[in-house]
Amino acid sequence: MDEFDLINQYFGWGQGIGDDCALVLINNDKQLATTVDTLIEGVHFPQNTSAQDIAYKSLAVNLSDLAAMGATPVFFTLAITLPNINKKWLENFSNALKTLAKQHNIALVGGDTTRGKLSITINATGVVDKNQALLRSGAKIGDSIFVSNTLGDAALAWQQIQNQQIPSNLLLQQFNRPKPQIELAQSLLGIANSCIDISDGLEQDLSHILAQSGVGASIDLQTLPLSKVVMQYITKTQDWCVALAGGDDYELCFTVSPTRIHHIKSIEKDLNIKLTKIGVITEKIGLKILGLQQNCQSYRHF
Ligand code: ADP
Ligand code: MG
Repeated sequence: MDEFDLINQYFGWGQGIGDDCALVLINNDKQLATTVDTLIEGVHFPQNTSAQDIAYKSLAVNLSDLAAMGATPVFFTLAITLPNINKKWLENFSNALKTLAKQHNIALVGGDTTRGKLSITINATGVVDKNQALLRSGAKIGDSIFVSNTLGDAALAWQQIQNQQIPSNLLLQQFNRPKPQIELAQSLLGIANSCIDISDGLEQDLSHILAQSGVGASIDLQTLPLSKVVMQYITKTQDWCVALAGGDDYELCFTVSPTRIHHIKSIEKDLNIKLTKIGVITEKIGLKILGLQQNCQSYRHF
């Protein structure tokens, strides 16, 4: 039984499960989008990660789920479990959290504080116009599939850390400080048919879009957007899994119908962001990855 079988079997009775956020109607024209993510020391970040980076990432991954739905951040709660009181650590954590919260105009409205192994849980809530949220279930046959920026940087950093190597600052930045694509998501409202944030790896997260939409896809390895350093690593090792299944990218993967594809160029220009077409949505169920000659396993907690 893997993570997703477990969720389906024991918690599938929940309402609206299956997207990056749950949507709750609040009045005639608005919906709340709400999400929760936990970060555990040793699982989501290495033991020597700075308080600032832990704070940043805990909020950023939740903002990324709001982005996946096209929601505007409004408020969040923070449940923090600490092994002890370390004033310097807490000051650094608090300041970094406040800085990112301010940047996205999201208010801390409550939480919970307990003692135990270091773990951070944030529940973030945003707002979106009724029936306008970007969903995993909206992909249509013939849609082009896009991803933002580059894939695999954070996964390569994590791999190097585990091999006792020191990643470059650029890779570490992607791993510790992923940028939540809130602005991009806002521009995709009314343009994209479906969207997800890539947290567990492109292969798995795109597969969630396919399963929820009842369609298949064909993507081409050669079109995956890669940074120079990831490209060099793949050229040397032929290990495409780092870009396909590494996880922790926090980029958006979205699909756009041929009639709206002309909007993508102007979004790229307006936001100064790279958006790359990596494939198309097909009638044939399953994810076909052209050029892949290895098996990649995306991240699953179970
Ligand atoms: P994400 O990667 O965006 O955090 P996941 O793919 O991990 O989302 O989760 C898949 C879906 O299952 C989401 O809609 C999430 O809300 C739901 N889910 C995960 N764990 C539970 C749980 N313990 N109880 C209810 N729903 C859950
Ligand atoms: Mg997500």
